[in-house]
Amino acid sequence: AHLARIDAVDEKVHAFLHVDREGALAQARAVDAKRERGEKLGPLAGVPLALKDIFTTEGVPTTVGSKILEGWIPPYDATVTKRLKAADVVILGKTNMDEFAMGSSTENSAYGPTGNPWDLTRIPGGSGGGSSAALASYEAPLAIGTDTGGSIRQPAAVTGTVGVKPTYGGVSRYGMVAFSSSLDQGGPCARTVLDAALLHEAIAGHDELDSTSIDAPVPPVVEAARNGSVEGMRVGVVKQFSGEGYQAGVVQRFNESVELLRSLGATVVELDCPSFDLALSAYYLIAPSECSSNLARFDAMRYGLRVGDDGTKSAEDVTALTREAGFGDEVKRRVMLGTYALSSGYYDAYYGSAQKVRTLITRDFEKAFEQVDVIVSPTTPTTAFPIGERADDPMAMYLADLCTIPTNLAGNAAMSLPCGLAPEDGLPVGLQIIAPAMKDDRLYKVGAAVE
Ligand code: GLN
Repeated sequence: AHLARIDAVDEKVHAFLHVDREGALAQARAVDAKRERGEKLGPLAGVPLALKDIFTTEGVPTTVGSKILEGWIPPYDATVTKRLKAADVVILGKTNMDEFAMGSSTENSAYGPTGNPWDLTRIPGGSGGGSSAALASYEAPLAIGTDTGGSIRQPAAVTGTVGVKPTYGGVSRYGMVAFSSSLDQGGPCARTVLDAALLHEAIAGHDELDSTSIDAPVPPVVEAARNGSVEGMRVGVVKQFSGEGYQAGVVQRFNESVELLRSLGATVVELDCPSFDLALSAYYLIAPSECSSNLARFDAMRYGLRVGDDGTKSAEDVTALTREAGFGDEVKRRVMLGTYALSSGYYDAYYGSAQKVRTLITRDFEKAFEQVDVIVSPTTPTTAFPIGERADDPMAMYLADLCTIPTNLAGNAAMSLPCGLAPEDGLPVGLQIIAPAMKDDRLYKVGAAVE
């Protein structure tokens, strides 16, 4: 049924870069066979899922939305892919994304944009716009995203779906193509809080193949999602997540959510986190710096595309020609920014300062969580904007990440879930819930109470 739905709508939506029809049917048949033999089935047996094209899949193309990996077939599965298979999930295919997960609209994909199912002329968010669009268009009931600076939560917000960035280290990064390694985090996307929790539990947990993977039990997310409540909880509202640039309808729906929390028994506490104002600047130094180092491996020798290899040119020339042809503008912009920020003589002024700001943001969160159990905010300052509107203005694009980025810098957990439609444009608004590191279950407890 989901493959038929993809056939019917994906030409218009373009959520998928690759539909693995054969693989999906084979997985589904394998689940049926197991059931017939009376074998124990995985926790998500037979449930179809859309996988962001940043996770390696053995024998199935993985492009990260880039021309530079066109034609590359990974010889191994990411840990997330492995765990999905172990849960008996049926992987439908790989979803569209901004190239190397750099963007907030999916317009930076080398393979063309994805439409928002609510209005195909608008963006589905980014970088994981393919995954969020697949959910909102009912092409898949579950999806996987990655969140380096909001790429699970912002797409969830603008498509009226649920997305969770687990605590950093909660889900393995092994086989997830690296963008900014100290920020990158895979996580679940779904249409309900409970669905997200079931998927969260299936992919999370320690992995010795990822050196930053947390070796501790997975927080009880499913139990929390089944027992939604905010009775007696302290909920923080941060001053810095408001003001100029926030759309009226977003603010209205957010204020109504705060009232709902109060009426359900929560105490609302106003918080001041002054360093959050610097989060965007720090992120756009740290993320490009780490990407300039991570993307050095795309040298035309190891993977995918190779341009100009006619026997007359040096290896350096082939590398340069391949990168020129294989990387898009945003990727080049970030590699240049990052290389500059890390260069000798500038390191302390840029990367070093950004890391200090990161520490201040972490401390602001620590102080906040002495007073409250969770923080809430709008997920994004505006609803989905039209395709093309911010494409030539990187600064306007970066503003979409205003509320999501502090969490990535501090490494704690956050969820976006729908909280109504903005009256002025009828488009979905996202409510963000933020919890301390390893308290991911609180997101689900609160999310299930207000869903
Ligand atoms: N918009 C952010 C960026 O462009 C988000 C990236 C992400 O979370 N992958 O860097």
